[in-house]
This record gives sequence, C-alpha cells and structure tokens, in this order.
Amino acid sequence: MPIDATLPYDDSNIFARILRGEIPSKRVYEDEFALAFHDINPQAPTHILVIPKGAHVSWDDFSERASADEIAGFVRAVGKIAREHGLVAPGYRLLANVGADSGQEVPHLHVHIFGGRGLGPMLAR
Ligand code: 5GP
Repeated sequence: MPIDATLPYDDSNIFARILRGEIPSKRVYEDEFALAFHDINPQAPTHILVIPKGAHVSWDDFSERASADEIAGFVRAVGKIAREHGLVAPGYRLLANVGADSGQEVPHLHVHIFGGRGLGPMLAR
C-alpha cells in the first residue's frame, strides 16, 4: 500500500526498526549518516537500499529539513556503496520513490541501488 509522503514520520516503520536493530537485515554499509542493506525482494542481481539515519519520510522532507552534513553524508554514502560493489564501470541505477504515485511503501527515505545487469527502460511502458 503506497504511503502518503506528507504525513509526519512514524518511527514504527520497518526501516526505523531495522535501524534500531529490532529486526534483522543483511547490512552492507554503515556510517554516521547512512545504513545500507540488501532488499528483501531483489529486482536486480544487486539491489541495495540506502537509508539516512535521521527520521525522514522521503526525499521531500529530507531535502527540505535535513542538515547540510546529513545530506552530504548520505549522498556520499550512496556513491561509496555503489563503488564498493563494483558498479561504476558496468553502470547502475538509483531510484527514490516519493509518495503515492511512485508506489513508495516504506515511510523512511530509501534510495534503491540497482545493478548487475542491463536494467532496461527507465520506466515500465
Ligand atoms: P519502495 O517501494 O518503498 O520504494 O521500496 C520498499 C522496498 O523495501 C521494496 O523493494 C521491498 O522489497 C523492501 N523491503 C520491504 N520490507 C523489507 C524488509 O523488512 N527488509 C528489507 N531488507 N527490505 C524490505
């Protein structure tokens, strides 16, 4: 069920629980600003989710309210994780869903990193 990205942050969401270590995830990276783990239902050979450590529903409130350090730290983490997984030379795709029309399901900002094969057209036709 897609979420309403205008609602306030709800810290019972599944990624908040992963951040707190309450439920398991296959972690691949962690620093002061970001945590990354494998998607539970991968759509490509590499499908990693990168989330900021702060309480942000989506790219919308992150881009509006996060500090410059949080934004820089998060963006650098996404790039570093892709590099560490050897995705720069073959290429990869980033995706961040925001709200109902995008189909965003988890109300904690996450950037998908897809790679490991040709990824086809940008959007389903
Ligand atoms: P969205 O549609 O919100 O952009 O993407 C949510 C993603 O989170 C989906 O790709 C889904 O497979 C993944 N996901 C949902 N629940 C869990 C979970 O408990 N653990 C992990 N690792 N991924 C999850």
